[in-house]
This record gives sequence, C-alpha cells and structure tokens, in this order.
Amino acid sequence: MEKHHCVIIGSGPAGYTAAIYAARAGMQPLMYTGTEPGGQLTLTSEVENFPGYPQGILGPELMEDLRKQAERFGTILRYERIEKVNFTGPKHKLISEADLEIEADSVIIATGASAKWLGLPSEKTYMNRGVSACAVCDGFFFRGKEVAVVGGGDTATEEAIYLAKLCKKVSLIVRRDELRASKIMQERVLNTANLQVIWNTETVEINGGEKGVNSLTLKNNLSGEISTLEVTGLFVAIGHKPNTDIFKGWLNMDESGYLITVPGTSKTNIEGVFASGDAQDKVYRQAVTAAGTGCMAALDSERYLAHKGII
Ligand code: NAP
Repeated sequence: MEKHHCVIIGSGPAGYTAAIYAARAGMQPLMYTGTEPGGQLTLTSEVENFPGYPQGILGPELMEDLRKQAERFGTILRYERIEKVNFTGPKHKLISEADLEIEADSVIIATGASAKWLGLPSEKTYMNRGVSACAVCDGFFFRGKEVAVVGGGDTATEEAIYLAKLCKKVSLIVRRDELRASKIMQERVLNTANLQVIWNTETVEINGGEKGVNSLTLKNNLSGEISTLEVTGLFVAIGHKPNTDIFKGWLNMDESGYLITVPGTSKTNIEGVFASGDAQDKVYRQAVTAAGTGCMAALDSERYLAHKGII
C-alpha cells in the first residue's frame, strides 16, 4: 500500500489547477489522470476565452501547458484510472486500475463530466468541423451562419439563445412537442426572432464534405417525414453526465450525479474529500470556472491537512 497526503483524481483544468496549488504548497500531490488525460478540452479545437491567451490556444495545447506547470512543482502523474474508493476511515482508500491500494489523507475529485452524444457515426466524422457540444467555446466560429442545436433542456435553450446573438439563424431541434427547459428559458426561445423550434423531430444524419457540415437529415417523429436542414454547425446539447459513478454511496450527489459541496467551499460530506470542476458544477461548466474550483479544492485540502497537523 502507498501513502500520500493528497491524491487528485482527474486531469482537466480543475485537476491540474488543484495540482499546481497543492504542489506549490509542498503537498506532493499524486494525480490519477484517468483514461482521457486533459479531459473535455482535448476534444475541442481553438479556445479563445481562457484568460491569458490573447491569440487563443488549441484545447490540447492548453492542457499540455497545465500538465507541464503541474509537473514543474512536483506533481506525480499516473495515466490510469481510480476504480474504487472507500471513505469509511479517517484515511481514504483508493484502488487504482492496476489494483494498487493507496491511502490518502486528502482526496481532490476532478473527474469532470462527459457530454452526451446522439450516437451517430457522422457525429465523430464532423467533430470540431461543425459538430460541437459547447456554444460558448465554438459559437464564435459560426458568426453570421445558420446553425442547429439539438435538445430541449436548459443547456440547449441557453446555447440556442447564445448562438442567436452571433448567428444568422438558429434551429432548435426538439424530439418532443415541449421543452424540458425552465419557463423563463422557454419564453426567451419563443421570443427570439432568428430562433425557430422544430418540434417532434430527430436528427438522423449529419451531412457534409471537405469543409465540414453542410446539412442535417431530420425525421419527424409523428409523420415519419424526412427533411433536410441546411446548416454549417450542429450543437449537441442533450445533457452531460458527471463522472461520479465510483463515488455513489459515499458522497452526497444530486439526482443527476453531480457532487454536492458545502456552498462557497469544495468540501463534500466526507472530511478530507474535496470536489471541483464539472463533477460538481452543472451550471457554469467552463474551463476557467473549473480551474477556479480546482484552486479552491487545493486550498481547502491544504488547510485541512494543516489543521490535522499532517503537513
Ligand atoms: P436535461 O435537462 O437532461 O435536458 C436534456 C434535453 O435533451 C431534453 O430536452 C431531452 O429530451 C433531450 N434529449 C436527450 N437525449 C436526446 C436525444 N438522443 N435526442 C434528442 N434530444 C435528446 O439536460 P441539460 O439541459 O444539460 O440540463 C442538465 C441540468 O442542468 C438540468 O437540471 C438543468 O436545469 C441544469 N442547467 C441549469 C442551467 C442554469 O441554471 N443556468 C443551465 C444549464 C443546465 P426529453 O425532454 O424528451 O427527454
């Protein structure tokens, strides 16, 4: 069994920021990156809204920079997953993919969330060439163009309204005859002039060519009618799933699996276990807010260890 003061699970902006702070505080953090080192940002292309990069930066490059910064101060990285946790005792037990048992005085969770996708093969073909799961990240590239958003929840309606400010026309494709989104968002959608809702409809194919997406094939669920919608962008907003399954039964979470923290802190219901990033945030979900909560988790963890006389 290995013993560590601080183990960070996950390697997105939250995890790396927690690692930078924890390493600089002399906590010698051990990070388990998971199977997608760098997290969701490695799936995006240009990032223009992360402060400090006036010319923008590619998502994978940004994550490389954060990794190097975390390693520079002594973070130990393992490119593996944590498979199981046991939070019964004062020392927290973690079991890695390689079946190694680790005893941690403090744990920082930064396991993120994964966007849900429609599951069409063409979604992968046109990923970052017209298909996106983040309007705030990629909407800017579709200024003056016609785009579509799939979904009917708060995320889809927010994305559609955001895009309507930038794009010529936005089509919101909803599979039922009503929106799941909050009333206020529903009203905003219906009152936005360049936003049309296409009800009872599913996206059955994403079409395109060398330059990326150029249209969608849609199917009306009631009539079975097939139609074509000409758009250059498709934003899939059918929900996210927080990567918190291994914490079920140990940590308090909401009905969707987002970890619940004490407001204004990163503290979970278990002493010495802190949560950051998208695993506990279903509202903002930005790289910079994830980084901010990663910083909070490292500071909370440092104070916890100091209070216990461990560091
Ligand atoms: P959500 O509420 O689960 O909504 C998902 C939407 O996608 C639903 O309309 C669903 O349709 C649709 N959908 C699911 N699978 C689909 C598929 N295969 N094809 C087409 N449509 C599909 O997810 P969310 O909008 O991401 O919101 C998640 C949570 O975060 C919610 O609690 C929401 O209120 C919250 N949120 C809050 C804010 C805010 O407070 N500012 C912003 C964003 C999100 P059905 O309705 O038919 O199931």
